[in-house]
Amino acid sequence: MWPVNWKDPESNRFLIIDDAAISLIREYLQTRPMDPEAGGMLLGMRRGKHLQITMATPPQLTDRRSRINVVRNSLGHEELLRQEYSQSDGYIGYLGEWHTHPQRHPSPSDRDFNTWREISKSINYPLIMIIAGTASITCYLCTANKTTEMTFYY
Ligand SMILES: [Zn+2]
Repeated sequence: MWPVNWKDPESNRFLIIDDAAISLIREYLQTRPMDPEAGGMLLGMRRGKHLQITMATPPQLTDRRSRINVVRNSLGHEELLRQEYSQSDGYIGYLGEWHTHPQRHPSPSDRDFNTWREISKSINYPLIMIIAGTASITCYLCTANKTTEMTFYY
């Protein structure tokens, strides 16, 4: 089923998630009882209103990770973003965030919603937030006034 190619019926906006991004996220699923949460940035391209996620940044050693929370240290992730941005002549940029949950089918916590709201306030473009559970993955398309969600099974 990967790569994902999804069209939001309301906005006619396409969301494409490349296999490389999903493959990386799948390496960090919390399938064992002690696996900590993992997270990073989603990088990719905006083509008009359409979004294509080309890569996900992997957890960095400086992230603080526990079973039920991850606070990513921005330094390592932002360094990767800068690299991708300059190597692609500015085509690849920041599209959102991903993190894992120790649930089969993930649902966002209040903290997740608050974090997304904070990030969305500082960026005027639609963002993608991904939460990866052990059996399914949910993508949240966050625009200024609306969040649309799509769930996919591995
Ligand atoms: Zn969460």
